[in-house]
Amino acid sequence: MIKTGIMGGTFDPIHNGHLIIARYAYEQLGLDEIWFMTSGNPPHKRDRGHTKAAIRHEMLELAIDGCNGFVPCDYEVRRSEYSYSALTLEHFKEEYPDREFYFIIGQDSLHYLDKWYMPEKIVSLAKIPVYPRASDINLDEDIRAMSESLDTEFIKIDAPLFGISSTEIRKRVSEGKSISFMVPERVEEYIIEKGLYK
Ligand code: ATP
Repeated sequence: MIKTGIMGGTFDPIHNGHLIIARYAYEQLGLDEIWFMTSGNPPHKRDRGHTKAAIRHEMLELAIDGCNGFVPCDYEVRRSEYSYSALTLEHFKEEYPDREFYFIIGQDSLHYLDKWYMPEKIVSLAKIPVYPRASDINLDEDIRAMSESLDTEFIKIDAPLFGISSTEIRKRVSEGKSISFMVPERVEEYIIEKGLYK
């Protein structure tokens, strides 16, 4: 079985927090690949205007180009309907029977995983590694609560906290501040060249 991580996100824009966390997960789980999957039409962010999917995905491609084991995945971007992780995973399982999937999520997503569309399907189709993200609640406690609620086990990724967010990056750009060291250099150049987040 090819051990395949899936790291989904709006990636508006992708930043070094995403990349560092993915590398920790890749190492700890001994993954063969991590697919970075740009969400096309995230149902939970449907009320928020965000950058066109093609642009977000282009930045993602620039960010992971040359990174060992990191692969861009535009499956959800190419579809016009809303994306649901359960259905995406179902498709991948059918399409790639020789792969074992690890659906990597952050602590913030774990909080409301039971409110996602068909959470039982998600946990039946993939293992779920969870990494820490700033929260008042301890990650172990969060994992225990959701394990009970969904009757499944989660894998804890031992990684430090990185206080970077796409929101902060968009805000800094709009204020004319530097985002050096927060995103890969080529992503920074792309944002400037395209005049994004002004
Ligand atoms: P936004 O600020 O626009 O909400 P974001 O920075 O949270 O964006 P997303 O593309 O929504 O980025 O994130 C995809 C996943 O990456 C989420 O599950 C989120 O928890 C995680 N993530 C983003 N930034 C970090 C970080 N600095 N540390 C750990 N996880 C992160």
